[in-house]
Amino acid sequence: MGYESSPSYDDGAYDGLVVHCSDGRFSRQFNDFVVNHLGILRCDRVVVPGGPGALTLERESEPEGMRVIDDVSMLCTVHEVDRVVLIQHDLCAYYLNCRGATEASLRGMQLEDMAYAVEIVRAATGIERVEGYIARLVGRVVVFDEVGGA
Ligand SMILES: [Zn+2]
Repeated sequence: MGYESSPSYDDGAYDGLVVHCSDGRFSRQFNDFVVNHLGILRCDRVVVPGGPGALTLERESEPEGMRVIDDVSMLCTVHEVDRVVLIQHDLCAYYLNCRGATEASLRGMQLEDMAYAVEIVRAATGIERVEGYIARLVGRVVVFDEVGGA
């Protein structure tokens, strides 16, 4: 006997698509924010290290169809999504280890990437409702602030 999940299969319309980092320290808070604050229950998620930051890289070495923006664009089309949410977060290892950020420069890089990622998503999908948020730590509490988009 396998494990039976209590929520039943839900084939209603999609409420949106969310792009956030894979960092497990923030995964429950991302879910709480998306479901309970934004009201996006049936959501597609693109979970990658760096979240929206991964949308901004030029990956010319990647074959067409293998970039993160291609995944976002495909899902928005196939699932008729009309709202996209991008979330960055404090202490992001992707920026600190892979993008050369320091604790001092991290927020500035994330804000710059967010503005660019919003443009990239709009251009690739034609969706106007693209929202940006940053999850910041206040002690051990995670607080979400809107930082860009519509
Ligand atoms: Zn991260």
